[in-house]
Amino acid sequence: MIKYQVSKMLARREFYIDGQWVSPTRPRDHHVIDPSTEQPIAIISLGDQEDTDAAVGAAKRAFEFWSSTEPAVRREFVLKLLEQYELRKFDLAEAITAEMGAPKSSCLVDQVECLPRHLRSFIDAFDKIEWQSPIAPDLANNIVAQSAVGVVGLITPWNRPINQITLKVVPALLAGCTVVLKPSEEAPLCAYILAEMIHATGLPKGVFNLVNGDGQGVGSQLSSHPDVDMISFTGSTQAGRAISAAAASTLKHVALELGGKGANLVFADADPDAVMRGIRHCFFNSGQACNAPSRMLVERPYYDQAIEIARSFALNTIVASAHTEGKHLGPVVNKRQWDRIQSLIQSGIDQSARLVAGGTGRPNGLNSGYFVRPTVFADVVPGMTIEREEIFGPVLSIIPFDTEEEAVAIANNTRYGLTNFVQSADPERCNRLALKLRAGMIEVNGIRRDASAFFGGIRDSGRAREGGIWGIKEFLDTKLISGWAP
Ligand code: NAD
Repeated sequence: MIKYQVSKMLARREFYIDGQWVSPTRPRDHHVIDPSTEQPIAIISLGDQEDTDAAVGAAKRAFEFWSSTEPAVRREFVLKLLEQYELRKFDLAEAITAEMGAPKSSCLVDQVECLPRHLRSFIDAFDKIEWQSPIAPDLANNIVAQSAVGVVGLITPWNRPINQITLKVVPALLAGCTVVLKPSEEAPLCAYILAEMIHATGLPKGVFNLVNGDGQGVGSQLSSHPDVDMISFTGSTQAGRAISAAAASTLKHVALELGGKGANLVFADADPDAVMRGIRHCFFNSGQACNAPSRMLVERPYYDQAIEIARSFALNTIVASAHTEGKHLGPVVNKRQWDRIQSLIQSGIDQSARLVAGGTGRPNGLNSGYFVRPTVFADVVPGMTIEREEIFGPVLSIIPFDTEEEAVAIANNTRYGLTNFVQSADPERCNRLALKLRAGMIEVNGIRRDASAFFGGIRDSGRAREGGIWGIKEFLDTKLISGWAP
């Protein structure tokens, strides 16, 4: 068992294929960088076509066996994974802190504990699946049977790496699919630990495989592979388009969880915590969350007060190394993201939004590391770049509105549609707006989704449904059988 020590450079070039760790066909080194220090902490290898083929081949050979196991066998696997979690949770937290900069004091809760939470909720959902069910009570000889989709390629991002990996690997295996996971090359270390945990459960060889790589390489090889039946992807809208195009020639099923530009409608009668709740959520994970409420729309009578609350919150938000104890924001993941956020902040200034906190450059006292100043813009006008584009950093745009209709029009004027938010003491208004806002999820007055609910969007945010029973059904095909002997 490998201990994940950030003080030591790890070499993890192998892939997990057909139940064992194998060397890459042609090693292609890639450094994993700690965003708090800008120093390399590990070397992985990016895979090649032969590595992808070997992993897909192993998954294909294992499919017939795994897809015909009794559901109880697959359920048992998840219970064993839960046992492994207790043994490895601190390794997972240490790896995630080092590879993507989630602060060590909150990493376990904010990042790692998603894993057991999802596992338990998937077990509950799995127990409710009807593998064969009549299409109507009086039509017992016409049934719908559920069967595993096949070999699936799972491509995941770095921002909440173990959360997104768990949301794909576990339901796919429960459904009876066999998988090839390609984690983000920015944050691959937690995926190694998960592979070690899965190996320790005794899962039969070939059912789960892991190949590292980048989007151009293993990512697009999986997407266009004739023996891959489905791709489940979380990441940018741009990569989602490339994957859909690459998958088109084989007509495989593609499930996409993409970016967002959440609107948070704050009415003057909202509860006193509404603005604080909104900006805290916007800055969560240094703003690197696809469901961040990054556009705060505030009803005019409450506008100045809301700006003051947000400004004071941003000015009091501490930014520090992810390796420092305490409650603070860590860095953003890499230089590319840091540069992009800087240029988006600059565009807000250039387009005359009113900068009320933060701005370009690093926070005072931090001379290296990919740290961003918690930033708030007021008087943001619909159509400005910071209002349209996903920033994926701790940057809030505040926009005034006068009427409900205007607020809905601004909120819906985006290609994205992941999560929108409503804050008001008027329940009828909340319900009315929840139905009008175009998004896969609406959160009213801070009431969080239940653990059994799905996560997923519409339009440029993708249409996948992850979590709960919906998340398992993503990996199931429905088959109609007429003439079934009841
Ligand atoms: P990214 O799209 O650059 O990379 C995500 C993954 O896709 C990585 O594993 C990468 O190697 C791979 N990839 C990139 N290009 C590819 C291609 N052409 N073909 C196949 N694979 C490819 O995204 P990122 O920068 O890692 O993550 C940030 C983005 O992810 C943000 O836009 C964010 O909103 C989105 N995201 C969405 C959700 C959601 O559930 N909707 C959750 C988290 C992140």
